[in-house]
Amino acid sequence: MPRTRRSPTTIVQIFAEPLDIPLIEPFAIATGRIDAVRNVLVRIVLTDGSVGLGEAAPFPPSGGETQETALAAVRGMIPLLEGEDAACWRPLAARLTASFEAQAAARAGVEAALLDALTRSWDIPLYQFFGGAVAHVETDITIPLVAPAHTTELARAHAARGATTLKLKVGTDVDDDADRVLAAVEGAPDCDLILDGNQGYMPTEALDLLVALAAEDVRPILFEQPVHRHDLEGLRFVTERAGVPVAADESVHTAADALRIARLGAASVINIKLAKSGIAEALDIAAVCRAAHLELMVGTMIESRLGIAASVHLIAGLGGFRYVDLDSPMLLSADPFEGGYEQDGMVYALERDRAGLGVSPREPEADG
Ligand SMILES: [Mg+2]
Repeated sequence: MPRTRRSPTTIVQIFAEPLDIPLIEPFAIATGRIDAVRNVLVRIVLTDGSVGLGEAAPFPPSGGETQETALAAVRGMIPLLEGEDAACWRPLAARLTASFEAQAAARAGVEAALLDALTRSWDIPLYQFFGGAVAHVETDITIPLVAPAHTTELARAHAARGATTLKLKVGTDVDDDADRVLAAVEGAPDCDLILDGNQGYMPTEALDLLVALAAEDVRPILFEQPVHRHDLEGLRFVTERAGVPVAADESVHTAADALRIARLGAASVINIKLAKSGIAEALDIAAVCRAAHLELMVGTMIESRLGIAASVHLIAGLGGFRYVDLDSPMLLSADPFEGGYEQDGMVYALERDRAGLGVSPREPEADG
């Protein structure tokens, strides 16, 4: 791309710094656990002074990225972006993918900062830039792998806070998992349940869990990634027999992955996460899903308000997301940002008159 003229949206500076946030309690899933959030804050400045923010959320147990690799990747992207026009964000996203394909969380943070800066410069909310389908979304809330008694406690607390859907991490031992799911039902009998196996089961084990739950009259509304991400035949085996919708999560990072799932009939729902694919690729995945009549889900790594705001703007802009799992700010013990959305119970509402993502760093409390 020849750099001919300097537009108001030319990228002049890119910064990356660690974004460390404590968790309320450790977060464990079938593939591992984390005790604190170690993300990366990306800041992009344009010629006209517009500043965009993005959050890169590497999740070591499932993504293969860490804070260290994400910081290095974002810094490595700087020479590919400086002096380029943020208005050409699609070719810029493709350029980042060409060199940093495996660093999807880092790319997602940079793409979010780019689009935030651009839509601030253009003075429109990001969700309207994406299509403006709706202005609010309702999220579920996740209960990680914890003991049954604590599961009941958490389920009760989340329901009291307005949750209508609980997502339960499973994928360990079928009997233990069934006990924990039933413990959640005890705490929140009126909530819908999503199960997330995080690749932990063999296909027959996944079906065993559903049979055990059916014996207690418990039927989840969705079963996410019961088997290993590369076992698409196993995923199809479960999908064909589960009797409930089955979602592919870790199996899908690209639009080509989604197309493969659709052709095989391996799942009926695709979980899109910006940290798995970046933003431009997430749009392509959504388009494949619509064409193939796969239902849309959105998920998240452990992200603060900043990263969640990017996902909320994207899905509100596109519309049509049936399953929304954007709860992670509620698992954090601090919120370093403000704005982005207004939260009421489990509903995030967007504002028409805030440009970009609308997120800013929270001002430190004034002393005395
Ligand atoms: Mg998942």
